Amino acid sequence: MVRYVQDFTEGGREQADLLGGKGANLAEMTRIGLPVPPGFTVTTEACRAYLATGSEPEGLERELAGHLAALERAAGRRLGDPDDPLLLSVRSGARYSMPGMMETILDIGLNDSSVHGLARTSGHEDFAWDSYRRLIQMFGTTVMGIDGALFAEALARRPDPGQRRLLVEDFRRIVRERTGEEFPQDPAEQLRRSVRAVFSSWNTERARVYRRREHIPEDLGTAVNVQTMVFGNAGPDSGTGVAFTRDPATGLQGIYGDYLADAQGEDVVSGARNTVPLAELERLHPQCYAQLCEYMERLERHYRDLCDIEFTIERGRLWMLQTRVGKRTAEAAFRIAAQLADEGTISWDEALDRVGGEQLARLMFPRFDTAVAGEPLARGVPASPGAAFGAVVFDSAEAARRAAAGEKVVLVRGETTPDDLPGMVAAQAVLTSRGGKTSHAAVVARGMGRVCVCGAEAVEIDVAARRFTVDGTVVAEGETVSVDGSAGAVYLGELPLVGSPVMRYFETGERQPGVVDAVARLMEHADATRRLGVRANADTPEDAERARRFGARGIGLCRTEHMFLGERRRLVEAMILAGDDTEREKALAALLPPQREDFTAMLEAMDGLPVTIRLLDPPLHEFLPDHTELAVRVASAEAAGGDPDPHDVRLLSAVERMHEHNPMLGLRGVRLGLVVPGLIALQVRAVGEAVARRLRAGGDPRVEIMVPLVDTSDELRLVRDEVDAVLAEVSRETGVEVTCPVGTMIELPRAALTADRIAAEADFFSLGTNDLTQTTWGLSRDDVEASFFSDYLERGILQDSPFETLDRQGVGRLVRIAVEEGRAARPGLKVGVCGEHGGDPESVHFFHQVGLDYVSCSPFRVPVARLEAARAAL
Ligand code: PEP
Ligand code: MG
Repeated sequence: MVRYVQDFTEGGREQADLLGGKGANLAEMTRIGLPVPPGFTVTTEACRAYLATGSEPEGLERELAGHLAALERAAGRRLGDPDDPLLLSVRSGARYSMPGMMETILDIGLNDSSVHGLARTSGHEDFAWDSYRRLIQMFGTTVMGIDGALFAEALARRPDPGQRRLLVEDFRRIVRERTGEEFPQDPAEQLRRSVRAVFSSWNTERARVYRRREHIPEDLGTAVNVQTMVFGNAGPDSGTGVAFTRDPATGLQGIYGDYLADAQGEDVVSGARNTVPLAELERLHPQCYAQLCEYMERLERHYRDLCDIEFTIERGRLWMLQTRVGKRTAEAAFRIAAQLADEGTISWDEALDRVGGEQLARLMFPRFDTAVAGEPLARGVPASPGAAFGAVVFDSAEAARRAAAGEKVVLVRGETTPDDLPGMVAAQAVLTSRGGKTSHAAVVARGMGRVCVCGAEAVEIDVAARRFTVDGTVVAEGETVSVDGSAGAVYLGELPLVGSPVMRYFETGERQPGVVDAVARLMEHADATRRLGVRANADTPEDAERARRFGARGIGLCRTEHMFLGERRRLVEAMILAGDDTEREKALAALLPPQREDFTAMLEAMDGLPVTIRLLDPPLHEFLPDHTELAVRVASAEAAGGDPDPHDVRLLSAVERMHEHNPMLGLRGVRLGLVVPGLIALQVRAVGEAVARRLRAGGDPRVEIMVPLVDTSDELRLVRDEVDAVLAEVSRETGVEVTCPVGTMIELPRAALTADRIAAEADFFSLGTNDLTQTTWGLSRDDVEASFFSDYLERGILQDSPFETLDRQGVGRLVRIAVEEGRAARPGLKVGVCGEHGGDPESVHFFHQVGLDYVSCSPFRVPVARLEAARAAL
């Protein structure tokens, strides 16, 4: 029989799929004997059934009643009892944490009679009425769908705690007027409807946005935790807080957190009131503090990781309300992983598993140059590190609008709520005037890697006037500010950025204690662990040198067309315009020296390591000027009665002659080499002469020639014959024996599907997953981002861009075929990848699984690929 409800005493952390993260950890804390208010979890399975059918699954109601009865028996109190009521909280809790995205309803069980019972047992009349109004407010907005602003306005009209009873009257009137029904007095009905509302909150707009961003699957559903209420707002000897076993921003050891006296949990997270540091708790409740420290130590030992904790003190008694392995910044992730490995708590393999390529990439971001920064405009809590600047905006919609137009923005808010999520996604940085490290803004920004400073109290925001002021300095919407999330400072204007110490480490090898040391040691372990080789895509000697410093062991793709940009474009132009063989040969001869110099420098930078040089790939017309521009120039000259420039006329006719409707599927790649006489010979000669030079200089050049956009083995054979002939010529002329492997890119579906035949002619394969994705999907890699793509992502038709993360089902299948059939035909065939996917963490794991020899990516992604290649091998 399916069970939809499980008591906290029954489960454990291994059941996160079924109980959600929060439920599983509540069960785990109960299991290890920490003081958790009793309760039970309605499973994600029940939620999925509810969302699929729109009604509770068969048996859920009976189970709920049974667990409630057991809870009542154990507590010796009944839900909503008029004399001594048991009260419950109902909270969402999905498999993956979605902070603030779904619903919570507190104080269930209060009604017109039990409110008196609570007043009597607590001895606090105001507190009881305040709890009742909180219930009506939360139930009213979440379950009954009433606009929360109505309650907020009513609350603002009666700020005095002594007026809570009247406020309850106001709130009930709002409910009546808005819904035509009375606020439900039956506690069982309150519970039932709350559970249903939490189920439904899985599908709110903001929850969907969050899931898309965080790549959380849509079909998981949320669990619902029903728990005995404990009150942090029961007077001055009560309170609530959030704590971390290590600093989630820097990874430093110690106990960090915020505490708020006489308050409920939501008050801390919303950032609506400013908290005090946890150390203050030691003064307020030394005993509770000592107990908390002990529990935190136990939790960290038990989970073997940084834990974050929510706790409540009810009249001097400490209760643990939540724990989980805590979110952290990239810096903290690396430092904590290395610390735990040093302490022997986890192995170095596990430490690798605790960090990720995207985090590493974030650590390589620049920071502000504090030497020239001067005094900040305002200071706040350094909530999410990094440095960014942008135009000030005051609401989410404006942030999204400006960002869509390409502007960098900084979202400035009093505090953020989950509704601000689209704005936070769009912004470079978030600045709030209220809230601490655990406020919504801080938690969400850290998760997304957004820069964030919060609780900058001097910032006075006037949303209506669209400006903020700090001590008389007025900053209007659209003005630029710079936000330093590592230091918690905000500056007027745009500050210069400097590189990060982690970047410096990769550039120079210079180690220093702290995060650099942690990164360095984890990278050393990664290099010892990974099987995949890592090369770089580099087209200049400078890039090649950098790639080598960053740990690339070779070049997987040198795009020679990039060597024809700038001034050299004219040389290519001359080749295209050549009227006869003599002119073409002259033009080609002019291209030879610069190509040879480039290759020589690249081979020197990568001495002893493989350098894959790809023959010219793009359509030739890319080297010619824009058609419209030329046509206008020629036409205007004619209209003015003069003669147009003859060079322009020749160019125009060449552009028109070479025009293709689908240039990406046209005369490019190997086709170009086979059609334009002398082109392949020129490039191969440049390579051959560079190799001969390096050999004569005592170097160890390891060049590989790669042929792009191959469809058939015949194309490759023809190129091969030409390469062999030219290299033989170069060897004769130079007296130095020059040979080199000739391989091909696999970037067309036909090539993948006929890999066995192509392998017969290829010394190696390199997967061009950019074009392979384009041609497999029939999606233009150059247009897709601008057209319907965002709509597809929005509607969930696609979860990721297949140009960023390799599509395993489709393109991945072709990759497998190419690897398996290529190697079947030519055992030991070396296969790498040089599409953008070579630097994408998820794709790197796939390439490891299919047994590639190496990935090649842009120099800056090389450390990311090294790390992920190791993580894939764990
Ligand atoms: C590819 O297509 O994946 C590739 C690496 O080639 P390019 O991006 O130069 O077309
Ligand atoms: Mg390509």
